[in-house]
Amino acid sequence: MASELTPQQVLREWLLTMLGELGGSVPTARALKVMEQRYGALLSEEDWTLTKRGDESKWWNRTRFERKNMERAKLLVPASISRGIWTLTEAGWEEYRKIQKAGPIVEAIEEPKDPSPAQPPSEPDGQESPSRAEVTTQRIIRSTAVADYVKRIHDYTCQVCGIRLITSKGPYSEAAHIRPLGQPHSGPDLAANVLCLCPNHHVLFDFGMLSVSDDLIVTDHSSGSSLGHLREASGHLIGRDYLAHHRNHHSR
Ligand SMILES: [Zn+2]
Repeated sequence: MASELTPQQVLREWLLTMLGELGGSVPTARALKVMEQRYGALLSEEDWTLTKRGDESKWWNRTRFERKNMERAKLLVPASISRGIWTLTEAGWEEYRKIQKAGPIVEAIEEPKDPSPAQPPSEPDGQESPSRAEVTTQRIIRSTAVADYVKRIHDYTCQVCGIRLITSKGPYSEAAHIRPLGQPHSGPDLAANVLCLCPNHHVLFDFGMLSVSDDLIVTDHSSGSSLGHLREASGHLIGRDYLAHHRNHHSR
């Protein structure tokens, strides 16, 4: 799980989505419950830590703060009028419809520099040639950011079969490096070199039982049949060089 706080703009998108889907108005206590059910698994460990006052989690504190921002932006009816019921204004509905049109919410994992709403997540820097001699902590933090980014942008859904595993800790998927990091491959730890896969397809991919063509068609080499097109997500470009490396390495 990421250690970054979920950005305000993502909280805003979640709030707008929840309010729109629930008919436009929700009492505060229900808002907390629904937000937690829907998005709890996407929150970071840092989100779940308590505020300095210790009476609530940081994410909920920041969500309430965002509610005020939205009130100022005239997306919500002022609390003094709505009396504890979070209510969309006409402009709020407009914003909700925009999000619906733009497709499913993408989760950002980096604090946005520009506070404009509805930005897609920004790709972490990653490492062009992660070395084994690198300081361990640095390496782990970096590779977690890349893996986490890819998993979140695919909403933990396998790019081969579309399965999204749900566990008691939230959704689960694995980040599979296309060109392996270790020797002799020396692949980069970049999002373009990572696929979001279920555990089964991760293993099959690593053993070369699955390959992916440049036009992203998946072939199952146990049967020789095509499994169709790899599921894509905007914001996640897949490096064709890495796919070619994987195919060449496993074709003998
Ligand atoms: Zn799968």
